[in-house]
Amino acid sequence: MHELSIASSLIETAANHVPEGNTLQGVHITVGDLSGICAESLDFCFSIVAREKGHPSARLIITPIPARFHCRMCLKDYEAASVYHTCPFCESLERDILEGDRFTIDAIDVEEINHV
Ligand SMILES: [Zn+2]
Repeated sequence: MHELSIASSLIETAANHVPEGNTLQGVHITVGDLSGICAESLDFCFSIVAREKGHPSARLIITPIPARFHCRMCLKDYEAASVYHTCPFCESLERDILEGDRFTIDAIDVEEINHV
């Protein structure tokens, strides 16, 4: 499953950045509509992998980014839910992707383990 391997590498990458004596609390990511990732199933896989790898308190915080295009024919910018949508102004498919094909880790939350 695609999302399961992404969830695993997310946890591994985030865990590498957790200072000793701290626990991983959350991973903030940006998921573009065109990145081919299902946010819901990634969230589900993340909670499973987090528990398996010893980070039961880690949560996934997803910021979705809608796909934005720049039409090469009428030179207007528009948002669309998928790559199969044509330009709403001139119905052309000649365009550049401005945004929405990215998948990035933005930040991680850590918390110091209380020794008292
Ligand atoms: Zn157009």
